[in-house]
Amino acid sequence: GNTACRLAGDEFMVVLPDASSPEQVIRQCETVMAEFRRPFDIEGRQLFMSLSIGAAVFPDHALDAEILMRNADTALFESKRAGPGHFRVFHPDMNTRLMAYVSTRNALHVALERKEFELHYQPQIGLKDADVVGVEALIRWRRPGQPLHQPGDFIAVAEESGLIVPIGTWVLHEACRQAAHWHRTGWHTVRMAVNVSPLQFQSGTLVKDVAAALEDSGLPPRCLELELTESVLMGKEEEAICTVRDLKNLGISLSIDDFGTGYSNLAYLQRFRFDRLKIDRSFILGLEQGTDAPAIVQAVLQMARHLNLRTTAEGIENASTASRLTDMGCDEAQGYHYARPLPAPALDRWREAFLQQATV
Ligand code: C2E
Ligand code: MG
Ligand code: MG
Repeated sequence: GNTACRLAGDEFMVVLPDASSPEQVIRQCETVMAEFRRPFDIEGRQLFMSLSIGAAVFPDHALDAEILMRNADTALFESKRAGPGHFRVFHPDMNTRLMAYVSTRNALHVALERKEFELHYQPQIGLKDADVVGVEALIRWRRPGQPLHQPGDFIAVAEESGLIVPIGTWVLHEACRQAAHWHRTGWHTVRMAVNVSPLQFQSGTLVKDVAAALEDSGLPPRCLELELTESVLMGKEEEAICTVRDLKNLGISLSIDDFGTGYSNLAYLQRFRFDRLKIDRSFILGLEQGTDAPAIVQAVLQMARHLNLRTTAEGIENASTASRLTDMGCDEAQGYHYARPLPAPALDRWREAFLQQATV
């Protein structure tokens, strides 16, 4: 007794005249979702289809059809953000979130042209000899009339809208330009670490972009390191292996960022030729708290040694954590204990002071 129709492209609408409460709609959504977990038999072939559902209820969410459909569409958008296989029933907060998303996305579009992004650099310290071995480039967004935006405010929107790809290309070029400047002006061992988002990794243009950034800046490839997260390796593994191999062939190094928080499939550590593991801050925080973290950190360090991977601890906030990690055999450290991410000139001043203090 329900009506199903095709709205456009791959969008369909189902009208449920008997459903008068969100609970009833949720039950219907669950029924449809369950149907789609089974394969469809098409000309003797078993095909799986993914779907997302957004729903709105009359009269709770709108009194006329047009607004009811628009609200269902808003709910669909939220459900798609959660990934395939989800459903969402409309809630007025969704409109606020949608508006925030759209306004950030539109502002990000112009931010690139207007050069509103900048990079700050956080030093990475060799624990054995207290040397500044490199920096990690971290993006900031100087939006006119607003306080400086941190990545947490906009990276997710950039990723979702695809804008992370051109933004990431800008980051690569800017970071290489700055590193080449440091290299030319006497910091010969500088290593610039650049974060790469999953979408950027899968874009198909990453290898070309990295090669161009190295070429344009004149930075020796060994001075560049890309930080990938475990999630970039999920899914299309064969493609990922090729991309990793091509990147390595450029002569740069690769690290796994936030190690331990994601997929943590140890098999890939052998299959991919990474150079470094960055142990996530959450484990480092736990070092001082007598939880399981010390055992985990110790195990990660041991495994890394066996696999010939260097190690960096993220988020060191005090001297006792630093000395503990040194004793545990961790190679490098990064965190507020040494310095926060700084604009290039401030990093120069910080480094000078740090090296001076290390020699006395
Ligand atoms: P990440 O790559 O794991 O970077 C480390 C983050 O931890 C940075 O946050 C840094 O400021 C923060 N951090 C470092 N030491 C400490 C510490 O001792 N205590 C605490 N509480 N935090 C510390 P930030 O700059 O906000 O960046 C957040 C995330 O945004 C980064 O995590 C990275 O995943 C992403 N990101 C930053 N820049 C870029 C970029 O250019 N491209 C992409 N794709 N992602 C970026
Ligand atoms: Mg990183
Ligand atoms: Mg990290």
